[in-house]
Amino acid sequence: MKTVIMGAGAMGSLFGGFLASSGEDVSLVDIWKEHVEAIRSKGLMIEEKGHEKTVRVHATTEVSSVGKADLVILFVKTYHTEKAVSDARVLEKENTVFLTLQNGLGNEDVIGRQVKREKVLLGVTNQGATLLGPGRIRHGGSGKTYLGELNGRETDRVREITRLFEKAGIEAEVASAIQSLIWEKLLINIGINALAALTNLKNGQLLEHPETLMLMDVLVSEAVAVARGKGISVEGNPIDKVKIVAEATKANRCSMGQDLDNKRRTEIDVINGAVVKEAERLGLSVPYNRMLTNLIKVIEKTYH
Ligand code: NAD
Repeated sequence: MKTVIMGAGAMGSLFGGFLASSGEDVSLVDIWKEHVEAIRSKGLMIEEKGHEKTVRVHATTEVSSVGKADLVILFVKTYHTEKAVSDARVLEKENTVFLTLQNGLGNEDVIGRQVKREKVLLGVTNQGATLLGPGRIRHGGSGKTYLGELNGRETDRVREITRLFEKAGIEAEVASAIQSLIWEKLLINIGINALAALTNLKNGQLLEHPETLMLMDVLVSEAVAVARGKGISVEGNPIDKVKIVAEATKANRCSMGQDLDNKRRTEIDVINGAVVKEAERLGLSVPYNRMLTNLIKVIEKTYH
C-alpha cells in the first residue's frame, strides 16, 4: 500500500516515521521547506523517553512528484485541511482512501467537499507528539488509534489500514462507532483546552480551583447535550473522564495554550466553535462554549 501523509508536522512525522521503519512505502508532504530539507539530508529524528533514533523516510514539498496513492493521511492543522485536500487531489485514483486523524469535529465534511464521501475514513488517535525543530520530533505518549468508516461498517479497507498501523507498532483498532469516539475526545478537549489556554494554567491546575471546576462542568455539560441532540451516545460520566485526563497530564500546557503562548492560530473552530455551530442547528443554547470561542478568536485577531 502506498501511503502519503499530508502535513508532516509532529503527528504526520510520527506516523510516517513508524510506517517507514516497518518497511512501508510512505511519503511525507509538507510545505515547510526547512523541515523537508532536514529530513531529506539527515533523516527524521524521533526522540522517545530520552532516546533518539533516526528514521529514513521520503519527504517532499512537491506533492505532484509523489505519484498516485492508495492511502492519504491528513495531518495538517484543521484550518489548513481544505488547501491540503485540494493539493492532494493529484494523488487520487479510483480507490484512494483519505483518512483524517485530526482533532475536532467536521473534518469529514471539509474533505468530503472535494473528494467523494465514500473515500473518506475517520480516526481518532491517542498518540501524542511535539515538533522540536526542522527534522526533529518528540514522541510524547502512546495510546490507541481508532479507525472507522463513516457508515460504521467493518470494511476490508479499514481492516487493512488497521493492520498496516499495527505492523508499524501503532496500536490500532477498527471502530464501528467512530463518531462516538471522536466526541469522547472532543469532550475532553472541551473541558481542558480553551479553559486552560485562557487562564494560563497547566492541565492539572484546572482541578485546583472551584471556579475552573465549575466552568469545566458547564462547558462539558453543554457539549454533552449537543452530542445527545445529534444522537451520539455518550458513555459513562464525561466530566469525570476530563478530570482523569487533566490529572494524568497535569504538568502539560495544552496545545491550545501553547498556540496562544506562541501567538499561533488555534483549532478553536473545530472544538468549542464546532459545538456552538452544532448547537445552533439543533436550537440549543451553549453560552459558555460561545463565550470561550469568542474570547479565543479575539485574542487570535489581536496578536502582535
Ligand atoms: P503541526 O503544526 O505540528 O503539523 C502540521 C503540518 O502541516 C506543519 O508542518 C505544516 O507546515 C503542514 N502543512 C500546512 N499546510 C500544508 C499543506 N497544504 N500541505 C502539506 N503540509 C501542510 O500539527 P500537529 O501537532 O502534527 O497536529 C496535526 C493534527 O493532529 C491537528 O488536527 C491536531 O489537533 C491533531 N493531533 C495532534 C496531536 C499531537 O500530539 N500533536 C495528537 C492528536 C491529534
